[in-house]
Amino acid sequence: MSDRAVTSTNRATILDGKAIAAEVTAEVAAETDASGLRPGLAVVLVGDDPASAVYVRNKTRSAERVGFYHVQHTLPADTSEAELIQLIDRLNADDRVDGILVQLPLPGHIGKERVLDRVLPQKDVDGFHPMNAGLLTWRRPCLVPCTPAGVMELLRRTGQNLRGEEAVIVGRSNIVGKPMIQLLEQADCTVTLAHSRTRDLATVVGRASVVVAAVGVPELVKGAWIRDGARVIDVGINRAPSGRLVGDVEFAAAAERAAFITPVPGGVGPMTIAMLMRNTLTAAKRRLP
Ligand code: NDP
Repeated sequence: MSDRAVTSTNRATILDGKAIAAEVTAEVAAETDASGLRPGLAVVLVGDDPASAVYVRNKTRSAERVGFYHVQHTLPADTSEAELIQLIDRLNADDRVDGILVQLPLPGHIGKERVLDRVLPQKDVDGFHPMNAGLLTWRRPCLVPCTPAGVMELLRRTGQNLRGEEAVIVGRSNIVGKPMIQLLEQADCTVTLAHSRTRDLATVVGRASVVVAAVGVPELVKGAWIRDGARVIDVGINRAPSGRLVGDVEFAAAAERAAFITPVPGGVGPMTIAMLMRNTLTAAKRRLP
C-alpha cells in the first residue's frame, strides 16, 4: 500500500479507498497495455435517475482512462423488458464487448432478475448472475461482485493476514453480504452473517476482528461496539438529514478503537468501480480463444 493510501487518526489507520482505487486502476491500465487486448465494457442505463446517471458516467470515464473500448446505451424509462432483453442479446453477441453492466435500479415494470439472468455469465462483470454466485460458493473461477471484491482488496492492502480472524458481516444482500461470506471464508476467516433479525448485534459485532457493514442504515454500528484493533470496512452510503453522506458505522467513535477503518465517502465506493475495471480485463482474458 502506498503512503498516500493511509492516514492515521488517534488510533485507526484510515484506508483511503480513493487512493487505493487509483492504484488498482493504474495496475489494470498497465496490464491492459501489456496484454495487447482492448477489453470492452458496455454500460446500460434505463431511465433518468440522477444518481444512476452519475454512477454510469463514472464507470464510463474509468473505462476510458484504462484504455477499454466502451459503449453506453441510455434507454428511456418506458423501455419494455423485451426491448431491454433484445439489447442484452445483441451485447452478448458483440465480440467487442467483454463486460455488460446493467445499472440498477431498473424501472418497476422490468423484471430485474430476468434481465440480469440474460447477461452471459462470462460477460457478467457485476458478478450478479446466479451462475457466478454458484461458482464463487464452490471456489471455482468466476466473476466476483465488484463491491465485495473491493472490500477484500482494501483488507489485503492493510498488509495483515486474515487467516483465523473472526469476521462479522452485517447485511445479507445478494450483491454485498452474501458474496462477502464466501470471500472471507476463502481467506480463512471464521464468518458470521448478521441481519435485521440478529439478536444482540452489539455483542456479535464486538466479537469481530474484521467487521464489514453493508446495511443501509446511517451509523447503525456504534463505535462502542467495535473490538479494540478491529479492521472495519463500511460499505454503507447513506444521506443524513443534513445532506451529508454517512456510512453504516459511527465513524469517529469507531476510529478510536479500530486498527483500520474506511471513511464514507472515499472508502469502498471508489473501489467498486476499480474492481469493475479489473473484472472487465479478467473477462477479456478469459474470452481469448
Ligand atoms: P440491502 O437493503 O439489499 O440489504 C441490507 C441488509 O441490511 C439486509 O440484509 C438487512 O437485513 C440488513 N439490515 C437492515 N437493517 C438492519 C438492522 N437494523 N440490523 C441489522 N441488519 C440490518 O442493501 P445493500 O446490501 O444493497 O446495500 C447496503 C448499503 O451499502 C447501502 O447503504 C448501499 O447504498 C451501500 N452500497 C454501497 C456500494 C458501494 O459501492 N460502496 C455498493 C452497494 C451497496 P434483512 O435481510 O433481515 O432485511
